[in-house]
Amino acid sequence: MRTRAYIALGSNLEQPELQLQRAVDEIDSLPCITLAGCSKLYQSDPVGPPGQPDYCNAVIAVDTTLTPIALLDAMQSVENDHGRVRSERWGPRTLDLDILLYGNEVVESERLTIPHYQMHLRNFVLLPLMDIAPELVLPNGRSIKMLAAKTDDVGLSIIAGSYPWQ
Ligand code: ATP
Ligand code: CA
Ligand code: CA
Repeated sequence: MRTRAYIALGSNLEQPELQLQRAVDEIDSLPCITLAGCSKLYQSDPVGPPGQPDYCNAVIAVDTTLTPIALLDAMQSVENDHGRVRSERWGPRTLDLDILLYGNEVVESERLTIPHYQMHLRNFVLLPLMDIAPELVLPNGRSIKMLAAKTDDVGLSIIAGSYPWQ
């Protein structure tokens, strides 16, 4: 069975725009995953420790036959291929891939929380999601449109339109 999932991409090291572009291509080429939509490319102020470079962010929709945990494994292996080093929490990174939603499922396990625990608060997630899925509704019934309307666009700017970005 195929499930529509949404993934947030972020990078603030080593040519972030290129990191994101390559990551989308790589995810699309994985077995069991098909790209179904891609947001504009955004730049955002960093969250976490001060003094980091700005982030590039985007959100993609995928259709997948993978289970949620297998999808996490696949995303972490793409992160690792991009030289992701896990050091301080929310520190700078070459690539971050967060699973936002997996169909209408709620997952709460040691390794995985879906919906992503902060997606409803992050403008760099909600505004890209509005590009590709403005009618989306969370498992708890809250709509992306309503959540996006409650957020602001402080620190966020569009740096490229439709995919491929460059
Ligand atoms: P944040 O989650 O606040 O955006 P982060 O992305 O920097 O922070 P990471 O260091 O990338 O956090 O991930 C820490 C752990 O979060 C991962 O090892 C993974 O097991 C877990 N995790 C839980 N839920 C999710 C999810 N929905 N998507 C990706 N990872 C998740
Ligand atoms: Ca993250
Ligand atoms: Ca992450």
